[in-house]
Amino acid sequence: MTLLGAIEGGGTKFVCGIGTPEGEIIESVAFPTTTPEETLGKAMNYFENKEIQAIGIGTFGPIDVNPKSPNFGVVGKTPKPYWSGFPITDYVKRHFDIPIGFDTDVNAAALGEATWGAAKGINNCLYMTIGTGIGAGAVVEGKLVHGLTHPEMGHILIRRHPEDKYIGHCPFHQDCLEGLAAGPAIEARWSKKAYELNEMHPAWLMESYYIAQALVNYILVLSPEKMILGGGVMNQLHLFPMIRDQVAVLLNGYVQHSVLSGDAESFIVQPGLGDKAGLTGALALAIGALGRNA
Ligand code: ADP
Ligand code: ZN
Repeated sequence: MTLLGAIEGGGTKFVCGIGTPEGEIIESVAFPTTTPEETLGKAMNYFENKEIQAIGIGTFGPIDVNPKSPNFGVVGKTPKPYWSGFPITDYVKRHFDIPIGFDTDVNAAALGEATWGAAKGINNCLYMTIGTGIGAGAVVEGKLVHGLTHPEMGHILIRRHPEDKYIGHCPFHQDCLEGLAAGPAIEARWSKKAYELNEMHPAWLMESYYIAQALVNYILVLSPEKMILGGGVMNQLHLFPMIRDQVAVLLNGYVQHSVLSGDAESFIVQPGLGDKAGLTGALALAIGALGRNA
């Protein structure tokens, strides 16, 4: 039986798992993200003697995902202590001389959802997470979008809500999308944990206004056939209908398609893989790496 390793590298925790080419995660473990050596050391110990034939890694960024670059697999400048400049793929390669797939956490999740989840069989989709940060990965014509580096869709510039006095918390741009709408922004603006804000709280209308603006921009640029929203903040399921409504208001009939005129329930959706989108996506990256080396 072919077994593959999957690593979902998050800013707060790392999840490692073993899976099959059919997208089934057989077992997994999680541990807190500390220094790169300690965290990846634990990951390498976990995979020891597991007979995996490839590893897929979906991780927080910024990272260099261009296989032709001399810095491929290296973490870029990040506020996260110890990780700037760390060569993740080299480190893994020293322990396991097998094919390695490497991409951002959100690209991995987008690929997982497109392969086995809510966007299975769909060639153009987008996965967005709204949690400690905001990020999104896009599959366009069946392939993950890369370019100069990788997209950073969480940091797009959006219009401020007229009643929003919060300055924003992005260390680079202050009031970009992430600065205004990630979980920590909600909590700083209203001085309460996001999960404590009840459904009627004005926080949610403001939040859905920001997320809807982002989705409208992604619709206009990429024309995805499905948009999948995950991350801690989207545990507030009442946000889904609010976001769908505001997307329709903001587009104002400009993009004409049935999913945008009343059928948005099948267009803006929850992850089909639940909170396993990232890990299962890393498994998809491993399968891709194995295929390239076959
Ligand atoms: P991470 O982004 O670190 O991987 P999460 O996606 O779980 O982790 O996001 C964590 C953030 O999501 C927290 O900062 C919190 O603001 C928010 N969050 C978590 N759970 C909920 C909830 N039930 N309702 C609203 N917001 C939540
Ligand atoms: Zn920003």
